[in-house]
Amino acid sequence: MSLAEAWRAARPPAAGVHLDSAACSRQSFAAIEAAAQHARHEAEVGGYVAAEAAAPALDAGRAAVRALTGMSDADVVFTTGSNNALDILLSDWPGERVIACLTSEYGPNLAIMARHGFEIRELPVDGFGRLDLDAVGAALASDPPALVHFTMLGSHSGVVQPVRDIAGACHTQGLPLIVDAAQGFAHLDCAGIGADALYSSSRKWAAGPRGVGVLATRPGFLTEDTRGRLDHAEKNVASHVGLSVALGEHVAAGPEVIQARLREVGAATRRALAALTDWQVREAADEPSAITTVLPPDGVDPLHVRARLIAEHAIVTTYVGVERAPGEMVRPALRVSPHVDVTDDDLEALTAALAAVSGV
Ligand SMILES: *Cc1c(COP(=O)(O)O)cnc(C)c1O
Repeated sequence: MSLAEAWRAARPPAAGVHLDSAACSRQSFAAIEAAAQHARHEAEVGGYVAAEAAAPALDAGRAAVRALTGMSDADVVFTTGSNNALDILLSDWPGERVIACLTSEYGPNLAIMARHGFEIRELPVDGFGRLDLDAVGAALASDPPALVHFTMLGSHSGVVQPVRDIAGACHTQGLPLIVDAAQGFAHLDCAGIGADALYSSSRKWAAGPRGVGVLATRPGFLTEDTRGRLDHAEKNVASHVGLSVALGEHVAAGPEVIQARLREVGAATRRALAALTDWQVREAADEPSAITTVLPPDGVDPLHVRARLIAEHAIVTTYVGVERAPGEMVRPALRVSPHVDVTDDDLEALTAALAAVSGV
């Protein structure tokens, strides 16, 4: 069985065409059942006894995060999502509150930085919004921030940012680096980046349950106080079990195999959408991610298009408003983010439906 067939067979059939993994992937039967079984076990033996019994499953989930990030000695905690992880990191930060990030930084992340009183410095970018490798070293050296926050793949575009280059530049300058891997984790290679902290969400490319995420930190990066608070905070153990099972399935399928297939999926999606000449694909055809964003023809509202694709064609995509990347986006787009199991028929259905609902 191919990876695509195995991935599809491992989960309930989709009611239509699901092209929305950057928002929320489809969970497997195994992940769904593991979470349900844990909830059942809580009812049988008591929530705290069940949590002790689940410890090996959760340890396996944390071990998978260490393996996938190449952070072999990292502290790994389950969070409620990526924004929660950033909130934990910034509220814990003991240093000066000056942080550098890309112009295209995720809007909700900018809001969290502002809420914690951080002054924001923009990293230099080229004409595509990609980190400018020629300028970054000098920029960090001449006016160093206290902390660098780097989103390796955004929510608003499939452009992959050179995370290893920023890690190298931070290392040279002795600057701590936090990586937002909400879209990068279980999608792009996250191993051995050399970050001090890396976080992600469960429901996106890792295909775990909603409302959960992971935060991996270099030992000592979080204060003892915060570490202790996180250990004792109330948590949704069932969903941590579900995520741990999803990560186990990801590791078993082969992270490199999934990464390679997702690159193919991105290229196939852009090739299919390029046939619609009135819609403009924003990424280069061979951009190595499975996120594609398209700008609609004049007068066509992507919010309306997304709703009609669901209601009339049972095709799920994402509306991407400018608030996702307020420093870069000038108008809203439609995002198409299939997982490894997308077929040519799915992409043909999308292009036909897009043509129908946008009248092109
Ligand atoms: C989705 C996303 C987040 C926020 O993740 P939550 O789990 O919803 O908090 C942060 N950064 C990026 C790049 C995202 O795509």
